[in-house]
Amino acid sequence: MDVVKRIVHHGAHQGVTGSCHEFVMQNDAAMLIDCGQFQGGDIRDLVPEHGFQDIDFPTQHIVGLVLTHCHIDHVGRLPSLMTAGYRAPIYCTPATAVLLPIVLADAMKITRFPQAEKVLRGVQSLLRPLPLNQWHELEQDWRLRLRNAGHIMGSAYVEFEHMTEVNESQLPVRVVFSGDLGCKNTPLLPDPTPLEYADALVLESTYGDRLHEDRQTRQQRLKSVIEKAFLDGGTVLIPAFSIGRTQELLYEIEDIIFDDPKWRKMTVILDSPLAGQYTQQYRRLKMLWDEEAKQRLADDRHPLNFERLHVVESHQQHMQIVDLLRHSGEPAIVLAASGMCSGGRIVNYLKALLGDERTDVVFVGYQAEGTPGRQIQDYGPSSGYVMLDHNRYDIRARIHTLGGYSAHADQRELLEFLHTTVGAVHDVRLVHGEASAKAALSAAILRSGLITGKVV
Ligand SMILES: [Zn+2]
Ligand SMILES: [Zn+2]
Repeated sequence: MDVVKRIVHHGAHQGVTGSCHEFVMQNDAAMLIDCGQFQGGDIRDLVPEHGFQDIDFPTQHIVGLVLTHCHIDHVGRLPSLMTAGYRAPIYCTPATAVLLPIVLADAMKITRFPQAEKVLRGVQSLLRPLPLNQWHELEQDWRLRLRNAGHIMGSAYVEFEHMTEVNESQLPVRVVFSGDLGCKNTPLLPDPTPLEYADALVLESTYGDRLHEDRQTRQQRLKSVIEKAFLDGGTVLIPAFSIGRTQELLYEIEDIIFDDPKWRKMTVILDSPLAGQYTQQYRRLKMLWDEEAKQRLADDRHPLNFERLHVVESHQQHMQIVDLLRHSGEPAIVLAASGMCSGGRIVNYLKALLGDERTDVVFVGYQAEGTPGRQIQDYGPSSGYVMLDHNRYDIRARIHTLGGYSAHADQRELLEFLHTTVGAVHDVRLVHGEASAKAALSAAILRSGLITGKVV
């Protein structure tokens, strides 16, 4: 059985975003793996004016959808899929089932999706949470299993296994979709579960051409930036995406300021309603935390809900805090979205505080070309300016960029995923990467001799 031929892509094949793959089990029965939104340059011209993307492929034969995790580039087209009449089961981990409605509700609010309530109720009724590591039988002689991907809370990669056909090694035929693979040593999250084997592996390649900066010392580097910032007062601004990295940062900040009287005056402000809700759910899901995080709980610490943490809800409160920080110069750390400063509450902080030399801006995520975040990164160090909402803001704040905060495996870790298997990986199909990342990873895989088939 040449299983690679059974895989069809409806997104994240050419670019990084819009993850949506189809696995054809039988002629008239296929599974979808993710149904994500295209973002940024991947589709700019194709987004209709109403802001959400339609489903441009037939869905009558789709008998189930697996969601690997709830980032918008993996679930964002779900409302459109529902509107197109989708009524089959939606499989995901129990944690993703908890987090998904929050993400969808927020996305539909932003795009003003019609009948959002109805869509949410529909999705809820179709959700079939599957615990990690347990096989679930489908009707078409295939079964599926979710394995921890260590990318964000609830993230999984998915294995499909045929119940009668075997491969050359006499093992049941398996097709695996990696979803997004995390790095090792991510705060809060257990490391990704090693792959056993695959006859075909659909593998993400976001950082297929890169090696990450050291993750072991990143907290130390964050600490030294915060310490320096603290000396001259003012605000430390950290633009961050609501899901995943914000919780990692809170976890590290708690550890930095825990039990050190020096930080008694430091307030940590989480200013994003979505990040606030999400952090609450991360706290509820503490049974999924890694051992280190559980130990902190046992030591009566509260890594995501510590005393100095203040969560801002209303817009009015948000504006009050921006104003307070502008005038008081009191030391504070602010985490707010969006991660690339292209919108969200971080923009008001930047407008108010970029001109103040006591301010420090700390970037922990990739800043795409053309975003305000990239401008600040590029022109901030030479006292340049940035355009925010068509106005010019001079930058007198200090600008820092910290590496080691990626939520995606780098080339070394992706190769390790292929290397630590017990059986063989035959064919690999690279997705979720720019052409250059795919080319570099493809070459590295072929050079490594880690697969028995081809990169297709
Ligand atoms: Zn993701
Ligand atoms: Zn992704």
